[in-house]
Amino acid sequence: MKSTGTLPFTSEPIQTDALVIGAGPVGLFQVFELGLQGITAHVVDALPYLGGQCIELYADKPIYDIPALPVCTGRELIARLEQQIRPFKPAFHLDQEVCELRRRDGGGFDVETSRGLRFQTQTVFLAAGVGAFTPRVLKVDGFEQFVGKQVFYREPDGKDVAGKDILVLGEGDDALRLALTLARTNGDGKAKSVTLMHRRDQFKASAGLIEQMREACDDGRMRFQVGQIIGCSAVEGQLKSVSIIDDLAHKSELPVSWVVALLGLSPRLGPIAGWGLDLDRKQVKVSTADFCTSEPGLYAVGDINTYDGKKKLIVCGFHEATLAAFAAAAYIRPDEIVHLQYTTASPKLHQLLGVSPLGN
Ligand SMILES: Cc1cc2nc3c(=O)[nH]c(=O)nc-3n(C[C@H](O)[C@H](O)[C@H](O)COP(=O)(O)OP(=O)(O)OC[C@H]3O[C@@H](n4cnc5c(N)ncnc54)[C@H](O)[C@@H]3O)c2cc1C
Repeated sequence: MKSTGTLPFTSEPIQTDALVIGAGPVGLFQVFELGLQGITAHVVDALPYLGGQCIELYADKPIYDIPALPVCTGRELIARLEQQIRPFKPAFHLDQEVCELRRRDGGGFDVETSRGLRFQTQTVFLAAGVGAFTPRVLKVDGFEQFVGKQVFYREPDGKDVAGKDILVLGEGDDALRLALTLARTNGDGKAKSVTLMHRRDQFKASAGLIEQMREACDDGRMRFQVGQIIGCSAVEGQLKSVSIIDDLAHKSELPVSWVVALLGLSPRLGPIAGWGLDLDRKQVKVSTADFCTSEPGLYAVGDINTYDGKKKLIVCGFHEATLAAFAAAAYIRPDEIVHLQYTTASPKLHQLLGVSPLGN
C-alpha cells in the first residue's frame, strides 16, 4: 500500500476503531453491523448527504427487493437505515473525499480527507460503491485557474453577488433554482445580470421551476441563453468574459464575473485506484469469507468489491457488511472469541441497541 499526494496537516487525527468510506446503503448498514459488535464508526462521504446511489440516482423511485420491505423508495430506505443505526451514534464527515490511505507502522491506517481531516483507525471499510460522487466540471481551456474564485461547481454560498454578471449553467432543479434566487435578489445586494445557459431549450428541472424561469425571463429579471462555453478571456488574472456558441453555431462573447456550473454529479473512483489494493477492472478483490481486501484490516463491501458470483445488489452488500463486521471484531480484539448472538435474545445486543429485554 502506498500513499498518494500530500495534504496540509490541519488538525489532530481522530482516533477510531473503524472508519467507513462511503455513506451509501451498504456503508450505513456496515455501521449497524459494527455497532452490534460494540464498534463505533466514523463515516466519510464525498456527498453532502447520506444515501449514495439511492439518493443521488433514484431517490423517489421504488425498490422491490429489500427483504421484508415489499416496496420503498431510495429515500425511504436511507431514512430507515439512518433510524436503524442511530443507537450506535456514528460520526458523519460529509462533503469530503477520502483522498489518502496508508498503513501505519505498528498497525492500523492513517486516512486523510480532501478537507484535511485526519484519522488513525484500526480498520477501514471501503463502501465506496461506483466511486465518489463529484460535480461534473467544464473542460474549457484556461478555466481551471478560476475555480473557487470566479468559477464554481457548487452554489457559492455566503459570497457577495452585488453588481456581478452571473452565468448559471445547467438544466436541473439546482441550476434553475439558483438562477431564480439570484434574479430575485433586490436592492443593494442585487446581481447586475443573471443568465441561465444550457445546450438546448429543454430542461430536466421540475415543471414549476421551468415556468417560474420563463416568467422571470419575460419580466427581464434574468435571461436564458441556448449555448455552451468554448473559451474565456481574462484581464490581469480576472475572468472577464466567456465565448459561447449557440445551437445555430453563432459565436458571441458574454461578460461574466462568475460562472456557476451545476451540471450534476458523476461517480469517480479517484484516489482509491492509487492505494495499492488488488483490483480487477476498477473493483477491489476480496475474500468471500470475511470481505477483507489484500490488506489485513481493510474490508471492501457493496458495489466497490468483486469476487466470483458478485451481484451489485443492496441485499448482497448487507450480507458482506455482516461478515466484514464479524471479521473486524476478531481483528480488533484478537484475544476474544466473537460469538454469534441473536438480536431477539442477547442482553448484550439489547444493551448496545438501547432497548429493553421486552423489546419496548
Ligand atoms: C437506477 C438504479 C436503480 C437501482 N435499483 C436497485 C434495486 O432495485 N435493488 C437493488 O438491490 N439495487 C439497486 N441498484 C443498485 C444499488 O443502488 C447499489 O447496489 C447500491 O447503491 C450500492 O451501495 P453502496 O453503499 O455499495 O454504494 P453507493 O450507493 O454507490 O455509495 C457509495 C458512496 O461512497 C462515496 N464515496 C466513494 N468514494 C469515496 C471517497 N474516496 N471518499 C468519500 N466518499 C466516497 C460516494 O460518494 C457514495 O455516496 C440500483 C442502482 C441504480 C443506479
